[in-house]
Amino acid sequence: MAIATVNPATGQTLKTFEAQGPDEIEQRLARATAAFRDYRTTDLVTRAELLRATADLLEHEQDEIAHTMTTEMGKTLVAARAEAAKCVKALRWYAENGERLLADERPSAADIEDSGARAAYVRYRPLGVVLAVMPWNFPLWQVIRFAAPGLMAGNVGLLKHASNVPQTALYLGDLFYRAGFPEGCFQTLLVGADAIEKILRDPRIAAATLTGSEPAGRSVAAIAGDEVKKTVLELGGSDPYIVMPSADLDRAVRTAVTARVQNNGQSCIAAKRFIVHSDVYEGFVERFTAAMAALTVGDPMLESTDVGPLSTERGRADLEELVNDAVGQGATALCGARRPPHHRVGWFYEPTVLTGITPTMRIHREEAFGPVATLYPADDLDAAVELANDIPFGLSSNVWTDDEAEQRRFIRDLEAGGVYFNGMTASHPAMPFGGVKRSGYGRELSGHGMHEFCNVTTVWYG
Ligand code: NDP
Repeated sequence: MAIATVNPATGQTLKTFEAQGPDEIEQRLARATAAFRDYRTTDLVTRAELLRATADLLEHEQDEIAHTMTTEMGKTLVAARAEAAKCVKALRWYAENGERLLADERPSAADIEDSGARAAYVRYRPLGVVLAVMPWNFPLWQVIRFAAPGLMAGNVGLLKHASNVPQTALYLGDLFYRAGFPEGCFQTLLVGADAIEKILRDPRIAAATLTGSEPAGRSVAAIAGDEVKKTVLELGGSDPYIVMPSADLDRAVRTAVTARVQNNGQSCIAAKRFIVHSDVYEGFVERFTAAMAALTVGDPMLESTDVGPLSTERGRADLEELVNDAVGQGATALCGARRPPHHRVGWFYEPTVLTGITPTMRIHREEAFGPVATLYPADDLDAAVELANDIPFGLSSNVWTDDEAEQRRFIRDLEAGGVYFNGMTASHPAMPFGGVKRSGYGRELSGHGMHEFCNVTTVWYG
């Protein structure tokens, strides 16, 4: 994929970039390694101050970077501003909580004695240079949620961002330096995916984190595995949104629409499969379809727009293929399933609701990365759980029920990294984020995310 800013709302190429060559990559690797040598010895108060300065700078520039994100990948400007604000919050959260999360941990006195030690504790030390391979869908947030805990823990970062968000990538490469982080602590590599293997195999790279598709994750994990390097993978999802009879149907419908079309439908944790108890199925279908059909599709720069274009032409083609396959096999489109007729340019797609999904349809098991919802009736809780788990993914899940016994069953049985009741999945710096099955492994955010890239060191005194 060419490294370029192509406006998804118009299809126009606005700016193209040369990929960095071997010499420039080498310079960055050397700079990162040199930076880590000193940065790893900085104290936690200093690191927290640097994160706060980064937050202040980003807050000051959030309108500008939001505009860049909307131009590069088509999310609504309203959503882009919210994303920038969320990044500011995460930077401050790690500045505030990093010291606590990285504090030494002491086993019980009895266990220390039992180990034969006079004293012992666990210290979280940094790992080194971490390579971050990141996607375009939340071009600021995906990076900050790796960088904030990583830098707080004393690691340094090298970012390989998606090829369609180069200006956001370059902004991030400068941001930390301008905020006061020493040169080399966080750098952007402007390279294509084909450059990753060599970089990842370089002994100066300690570990890698990737958010993106399953093939990209598999490739990075295979190379890292061959080199015995730690990875965290956050891949796709096709999260269930289960509605039981005790749910407040109005709220469940309203939230369902937001959960499906947030970020123009291109979120790994978007609710994608709506599994509704038969007792409330008809009512849900009617209201949900009406609300999806009423959304305004259009220019992402306008405040009145609910759904902007898909980020790439390829992304829209993939989505269309999934929908056409389902409809071709007998699924019913209650709304959408087409490009909006009034948009002659740009990669728009109408919010779509599909029923009559069968297991042979690709959309039953694959991730629909766009504003397309599939609806399933379920006769009881067991049927809902079975449907929910009948996919290769297990990122998060959403359940609407006020019944505590049902809630306990869902917590026990849903195969996912999150179970969100009476709401929709949303990440927060204090909550671990990540999945099971083919959604990947490891966690981001919270102390769990921070410790993924730490050398968890036992210190023992005889
Ligand atoms: P990719 O996984 O291809 O892109 C994500 C990142 O991985 C980009 O930086 C990309 O670089 C890089 N990459 C791609 N292939 C490799 C590889 N073999 N080795 C190392 N790095 C690689 O996602 P797409 O943009 O192609 O989206 C395809 C699908 O992936 C979506 O439809 C969705 O299902 C899923 N996805 C999930 C996301 C999530 O949040 N979990 C985010 C984005 C996509 P480059 O851009 O240069 O190719």
